Amino acid sequence: MGKLQGKVAVITGGSSGIGLATAKRFVEEGAYVFITGRRPAELEKAKAEIGNNVTAVQGDVASLSDLDRLYQVVGDVKGWVDVVVANAGFVEHAPLALATSEHFDKTFGINARGVFFTVQKALPLMKNDGSVVLVSSGLHLKGFPAHSTYSATKAAVRSFARTWAAELKDKGIRVNTLSPGAIDTPIIDGQFPNKEQADGARAMFAQMTPLGRIGRAEEIAAAALFLASSESSFATGIDLVVDGGVTQL
Ligand code: NAP
Repeated sequence: MGKLQGKVAVITGGSSGIGLATAKRFVEEGAYVFITGRRPAELEKAKAEIGNNVTAVQGDVASLSDLDRLYQVVGDVKGWVDVVVANAGFVEHAPLALATSEHFDKTFGINARGVFFTVQKALPLMKNDGSVVLVSSGLHLKGFPAHSTYSATKAAVRSFARTWAAELKDKGIRVNTLSPGAIDTPIIDGQFPNKEQADGARAMFAQMTPLGRIGRAEEIAAAALFLASSESSFATGIDLVVDGGVTQL
């Protein structure tokens, strides 16, 4: 029997990278998944790759009405949620001296506010013994130039997990963060003007990482499965760092 047999999971940003790998793994483990993303074509492609036990709902986590529509669909199709993986996120480089208010608001709107309301709006559908996994980043533990807003949103997410773990424990809902290091997904390409520079960044991250390489999305999906399932039944409020040792050694 799969580790998520019969469970219903919502995975924001399930159309690419870590979210897509997590959705595939959850379905292999017996779950029904709802995936989201803004780009309809990417979402449909991901849905086809996952194959069965999946519903794709287009939407932006920064939009409260899109989140309402997501949970309306979840309620109509399944009626409840066991697992929420608040994964949708993005990175835009901006040194302090150059960051605009638009950059600040966009980063916090998606990465922090988006996570906040993704979880708040799931609560009416969440059963006891649920699990919430917030995808943070190892960068919340580091000082990395041009990442002040991004890293701060991920620190906010880590803080949400502590407070929500305390608030929701009596409902049997566990809340944890998952902090990846550098993982080989399209989010790296999105930060550079061309593939050559993105691959240069991949090589730099591999060189910085004690295990000597960057990670694979499937390795983060395995950690998400641990936090989502009863395998982690005594863990709440933790930050599970999966980063090849880069923030720890
Ligand atoms: P990715 O491949 O770029 O995937 C990001 C996913 O989020 C896509 O499905 C994207 O779809 C969706 N998304 C982005 N903004 C959204 C929004 N406003 N509303 C709804 N969906 C949105 O990136 P990834 O590497 O898998 O990243 C997933 C998470 O891991 C992020 O929170 C990221 O910060 C975190 N993380 C990644 C790494 C890494 O090295 N890869 C390291 C640490 C943490 P659309 O663009 O179509 O909306």
